[in-house]
Amino acid sequence: MAKMELRELGNTGLKLSSVGFGASPLGSVFGPVSDEVAIATVRQAFTLGINFFDTSPYYGGTLSEKVLGKALKASGVPRNEYIVATKCGRYKEGFDFSADRVTRSIDESLARLQLDYVDILQCHDIEFGSLDQIVNETIPALLKLKDTGKIRFIGITGLPLEIFTYVLDRVPPGTVDVILSYCHYGINDSALEDLLPYLKSKGVGVISASPLAMGLLTENGPPEWHPASNELKAACQAAAVFCKEKGKNISKLAMQYSLSNKDIASVLVGMNSVQQVEENVASAKELATAGIDEKTLSEVKEILKPVKNQTWPSGIQS
Ligand code: NAD
Repeated sequence: MAKMELRELGNTGLKLSSVGFGASPLGSVFGPVSDEVAIATVRQAFTLGINFFDTSPYYGGTLSEKVLGKALKASGVPRNEYIVATKCGRYKEGFDFSADRVTRSIDESLARLQLDYVDILQCHDIEFGSLDQIVNETIPALLKLKDTGKIRFIGITGLPLEIFTYVLDRVPPGTVDVILSYCHYGINDSALEDLLPYLKSKGVGVISASPLAMGLLTENGPPEWHPASNELKAACQAAAVFCKEKGKNISKLAMQYSLSNKDIASVLVGMNSVQQVEENVASAKELATAGIDEKTLSEVKEILKPVKNQTWPSGIQS
C-alpha cells in the first residue's frame, strides 16, 4: 500500500501526514463517541500512516483532550512518532487569553492528554479576544512555555483571515510558527489561497482544517449548530445530492480538493470512526495515484458558484 505523504510544516522541521486527525469529534461534538470507538479510530489512523492529531480544551468541554489522551496511550505508539497540537484561550466557560490563564491551561491539557509536552500550542480563535493582547501578552507567555519544554511550537487559529496578517505583522519573525485556518480551503470556500504566498514568505507553517466545511460537504449534512446561512447549507446539500446521484462521494471529492495544494502541510479532518479514517486516507492515496475527478469537481464547483467564498461572522472584530 502507498505510504501516507508527509509534508514539512513551515520552518518547524516537523513532517506532518497530509491527512491530519481532527479530534473535535472525539469530544462528541458531532454525536456521541464511545471510548472503544475512539481508541479503534486512533489506532487505525496510526496503522494507515496518520501522525498528526489536533485537539483543544474547548472541544466537548475538555472531553476531546481526555479521550484523545486515552486513545494515544492505548495505541502504544512511541511519543516521538506522532505530533500533537492543542490550544489555549478558548474554554467552555468562555475566552481568556491572559498570560496567567494560558500558562495554567497547558498543565491542564498535558494532564488530560497524559503527555509531557505538546508539539504545538495554538491560541484558539483569536478573533474573539484582543489581537493586541495576543501579540503583547499571550504569545510572550507561550514563548516562556517553549523554554520549559512543555510546548515545542506556537500557533494561532481562527476564522477571519485578516487576524493572521494582523498578528504576524506585529511579532518578531519566527515567533509564531504555525497558523491553523478552517473552512477556507475547500470546494465552496478557498479564500486561504490568496494568503499562502504571504505565509510562505514569513516561513509560517499552514494547517488547513475542516475540508468538509464542518459537515456541509457530507451526505449526512452539517450538525444543528452549524453557523452557515441557509443558502450555503442548501447549495452544499444540492452538491451532495448531485454527487450521490452520480454514484460519487462529495466528501471524497472535498478531501481531495483540499489535499491538492502542497503549500498546506496538513488537512485536518474530523473523524470519529474507523470507516471515516479509512475513507479519508483512501481519498489521499487515490489522489496521489489517479488524481482528482476533474469532471465532477467542475460540476460541483458550478453548483456552488453562487455561494463561492461565502462565510459567516466570527469574533468581536467582525
Ligand atoms: P470537518 O470539515 O473535518 O468535518 C467533520 C465532520 O465530517 C464530522 O461530522 C465527521 O464525522 C465527518 N466526516 C469525516 N470524514 C468523513 C467521511 N469520509 N465521510 C463523511 N463524513 C465524514 O470539520 P471539523 O471536524 O470541524 O474540522 C476538523 C478538525 O480541524 C477539528 O476536529 C479540529 O481539530 C480542527 N479545527 C480547528 C478549528 C479552530 O482551531 N478554530 C476550527 C475548526 C476545526
